[in-house]
Amino acid sequence: MQLDLSRIGQNKCQFEWLLKPSEVLQADNSYHIVRPVDLKIELYKDKKRIHLIGQVLTELELPCSRCLEPYRMPIDVGFDHQYLPVEEDLEVSEAEVEEEELEISYYKEALIDINALLHEQFCLALPMKPLCIDNCRGLCVNCGANLNTSPCSCETDWEDPRLEPLKNLLF
Ligand SMILES: [Zn+2]
Ligand SMILES: [Zn+2]
Repeated sequence: MQLDLSRIGQNKCQFEWLLKPSEVLQADNSYHIVRPVDLKIELYKDKKRIHLIGQVLTELELPCSRCLEPYRMPIDVGFDHQYLPVEEDLEVSEAEVEEEELEISYYKEALIDINALLHEQFCLALPMKPLCIDNCRGLCVNCGANLNTSPCSCETDWEDPRLEPLKNLLF
């Protein structure tokens, strides 16, 4: 989805969208959007500089890093983002950008890519190590059973053969 700046006359306006997951283009498969994306944006226009302040609410499904089972994670994040047109890039001094310590993105042909904005927000919200539950027991390294659902029979008997020489050293 694109935000068409050429159709925005005022210097300040508000938008609210409820996007179906299928309407949001996904850049990769690290997550799936499983609930309509509730997106609110306040737009401030200062000549060609666009300032977006917004909130995004939805739910993502992603695989647990230990047991690989998909689980759902609610998303409720705010963002504050500035945009400049690509061709004006060189006219903005680095000092000016640094001073304000704001993240600057660029738009082309008066279009702001809302999909890219959403993808960035989701990636920022995703944990480094996604876990379905804090104490997820993961998969048995021997038989691959999901130890959250049932303990497997090899869990207690099985010993890592790589530890065998170490054991002989110890006793
Ligand atoms: Zn898990
Ligand atoms: Zn097992």
